[in-house]
Amino acid sequence: MLLGYFCVLSKTSSKVKKVFLYLDLLPVIWHEFLYICRMRFQEIPGQKEIKESLIRTAKEGRISHAQLFYGPEGSGKLALAIAYAQYISCTGRLEEDSCGTCPSCVKYAKLVHPDLHFVFPATAASSTKSDETPVEKALERWREMIIENPYFDQYQWYDKIGIENKQGLIGVKESVDIIRKLNLKSFESDFKILIMWLPERMNATAANKLLKMVEEPPPGTVFLLVSEVPGEVLPTILSRAQMIKIPRLEDEDIRKSLKERVEVSDEAVEDAVNMADGNFNKAFSALREEGFNRENFDQFVSFMRICFAYSMVDLTEWVDEMAKSGREKQKMFLSYGLRIIRENFLVNTGHSGISHMTKYERDWSLKFSKFVNGKNVYDIYEELNLAYNHISANANAKIVLLDAGLKIGRMLKR
Ligand SMILES: [Zn+2]
Repeated sequence: MLLGYFCVLSKTSSKVKKVFLYLDLLPVIWHEFLYICRMRFQEIPGQKEIKESLIRTAKEGRISHAQLFYGPEGSGKLALAIAYAQYISCTGRLEEDSCGTCPSCVKYAKLVHPDLHFVFPATAASSTKSDETPVEKALERWREMIIENPYFDQYQWYDKIGIENKQGLIGVKESVDIIRKLNLKSFESDFKILIMWLPERMNATAANKLLKMVEEPPPGTVFLLVSEVPGEVLPTILSRAQMIKIPRLEDEDIRKSLKERVEVSDEAVEDAVNMADGNFNKAFSALREEGFNRENFDQFVSFMRICFAYSMVDLTEWVDEMAKSGREKQKMFLSYGLRIIRENFLVNTGHSGISHMTKYERDWSLKFSKFVNGKNVYDIYEELNLAYNHISANANAKIVLLDAGLKIGRMLKR
């Protein structure tokens, strides 16, 4: 297994923990990074003024019973709504954040507080036969999703619940369920909080049914609506909510937040910030992709070194290791190989200006590209392509990769 260049700094209270990251475990560690950072205000990048004004409402006892958070994708609306709900419910509130340790905060960290309710678009068709509502059915996956990445967009969510090509809806069954739940006395907290993600996905019947409750909620009830497109929310609901605009994240906040938590090169952070355009979800995907890119790069460099040395012992060992990694990963590795061989040929022939490589790829290519020339580039390319096709067709990965390695070893010497 390769020791990755990533390591994760998770800053919980005063303790700083450094986790060296095996790239094979990237999603797991990423999971941990997010698990730690997701709920309290201090862990949410940027949005200083919004946080301050939300905290002020709680301190001054003027929490509006219906609030609508809106703003561009990836600005942290949902994360802020959850942090606000946690702050309101916290029994040991600090000056600038919830305490993180009271019984309420502990339950919030797992999103299992009995007075915290969620509603979100869950199925394409609103009719289900069982007693459970679509939201109840999807609740476990919803919690997982927030833990994985609280900046997700609706397509990532639909993908998670397996309705990729359709838009989710909030149907009348949910309204009935919300009314029933919010009419009960609260269990533990002074507040019953309902966070509704994407109220614009609520159909008119559902919205109308809910209207009266939004207008005159039972005591201690707070509605936090989180909208991508407030213009599509039913006007009667909209007019009853206090509007809270969440601005696009500043580049500096994204940069700072990434650097604090994930130890990667400045260049990788800059690339992610540029890709993001104020959307933390995008910054996050770019960095994750960069992690996989780096893993493939490291694998490819050692593969080329071993092929060139033509060492049967080393090659067998490498192939054995690679064969453990599953077909999808092997295919990603071979696709990566195809790209980097093409780029190296461009460097060799003096066309490096048009090549698209990261700094570490460029540095390596300056040395390696002299082995990729007009005499062998097509054959190497063909060999990697063939290996890709064979692995896609379920051929034995060990045999395919060993064969490719030996042939490429000979080709590199041309
Ligand atoms: Zn607390």
